[in-house]
Amino acid sequence: MDYSTTLTQLTLRVSLRRMMAYIFLFDAAACTGCKSCQMACKDKHNLPVGVLWRRVFEVSGGSWLPHGEAWTNDVFAYYLSLGCNHCVHPKCAGVCPADAYVQTADGIVYIDETRCMGCGYCAWACPYGVPQYNPMLGRMTKCNFCIDELAQGKPPACVAACPMRVLNYAFIGNESSASNSEYLYLWEHAAQDHPFPLPAFSRTQPHLAIRPHPAMGNGQEKRVANREEVRPPWQVLHRVPEGQVSPFASSRSTGLAFFDKLHSIPARDELPLIAFTLLTQMAVGMTFFSFFFPLSLLHIFLIGFLLGAGGLVSFLHLGTKRNAWRAVLHLRKSWLSREILALGMLVSVWLYWFFERAVLKTGYGALFTTLVGLFFVYSMSQVYRLRAVPAWNSWRTAAAFFLSAGILGVVGASWGRALVSVWMVLWVLLALQVGLIVSAVRPVYPTEERLRGMVTVLMMLGVSLLPLLPPWAQETLSLPIVLLILVEQVWGRWLFYRMRVPAL
Ligand code: SF4
Ligand code: SF4
Ligand code: SF4
Repeated sequence: MDYSTTLTQLTLRVSLRRMMAYIFLFDAAACTGCKSCQMACKDKHNLPVGVLWRRVFEVSGGSWLPHGEAWTNDVFAYYLSLGCNHCVHPKCAGVCPADAYVQTADGIVYIDETRCMGCGYCAWACPYGVPQYNPMLGRMTKCNFCIDELAQGKPPACVAACPMRVLNYAFIGNESSASNSEYLYLWEHAAQDHPFPLPAFSRTQPHLAIRPHPAMGNGQEKRVANREEVRPPWQVLHRVPEGQVSPFASSRSTGLAFFDKLHSIPARDELPLIAFTLLTQMAVGMTFFSFFFPLSLLHIFLIGFLLGAGGLVSFLHLGTKRNAWRAVLHLRKSWLSREILALGMLVSVWLYWFFERAVLKTGYGALFTTLVGLFFVYSMSQVYRLRAVPAWNSWRTAAAFFLSAGILGVVGASWGRALVSVWMVLWVLLALQVGLIVSAVRPVYPTEERLRGMVTVLMMLGVSLLPLLPPWAQETLSLPIVLLILVEQVWGRWLFYRMRVPAL
């Protein structure tokens, strides 16, 4: 096939921001779902088991319908071949803390793998689930539009392999003339008008043109029979035998033997992040409550220990640790960069506070540490404000993080003294947590959330009873209450990470 002829068949419709770009064209009406493109890509780039830079989705559904005395059916099946869309506004590039993404002048978005630190954040942010972690390299990888083939004037491997010639590519620019009205140029249309299973919330303007299959259209999602195949539930992603890569390649070595052994647990990849977020939030909470409950030098040391332990767990979960220094290179756009910078600042002001308290006995160390700590928790909450993860993308994430900081902080501040000394503050914070849980309109895991709510109410009851009891009973009851609070917080954070159901 003469690929250059495609150029002249294209409509010249480009975003004002990017006037020239490579795009993929996909004729969904004629695709037979043979997956030659998927295999050619895998073969060319020597991808390991489970990593697919191009995926062919099968969407099927419909049923038999009574039609008078007879029965008719509206069954349908179509395919969507999806690599990276080399979007006009690549969200993956914006969030990457290491600034590892490159967007070339002709619109190709690729990862400079020498800069990637393997944090996995871009995979969360891409609405199309495109970036995939390569456990062999310890880095994120994705379709690069076969940039090496293009440089030699050849088509990308997936395009060349398509026996039906339904997958194609083109370079669009001002010079194009003829219009091909059969194609839907996705970057020109709101995501709500993109065919299923492409997500309706994306604002990245994908450089993908589709000739729609007759069955493609809004509302198909409700009639799709193989929904789990198209959008696999998060739990399925990690149920892989030990030693194998997840079928969706999101499972990766955390670098921590304990976490790596937990292969069958949903959201296993995020277990180190559960530890990181809770430990550091507890440290910030303790710092804040130092204004209400005077802390000893040992308490202040514990705050530093929590920050250090959290930071270490977070560092060890990176795929390429030697690139960790790059994490603060994208402060202009990436909240993850800002969060990491804030953590560095927090450790610095804590050191000052500790020194001040040990030597000078007085000063503003607690105030500085608290202010930086609050900014750190806020930045952490913004890291999760991703359009691609609707369950995280609300004010509730920040509220939950600050509440955890408060609850764990009060518990930490009560360390070494009777829990009854902080019971009233703890009770109020637990009540706020119950409010947050019950006010969720459509919880992803309603049963677990209800159970969490009940456990929190139980803890509130226990805390309210404390002041009424004799000292020996207060002491006896304090330990189980504290343990229950810690378990509940880990459970809540685990549910939070489980809520990240990939869009594709
Ligand atoms: S499809 Fe995803 S990975 Fe590709 S450029 Fe767009 S946002 Fe980035
Ligand atoms: S550093 Fe993190 S966000 Fe950036 S490309 Fe690598 S995995 Fe993705
Ligand atoms: S353009 Fe190249 S890297 Fe991208 S999906 Fe096709 S074969 Fe794979």
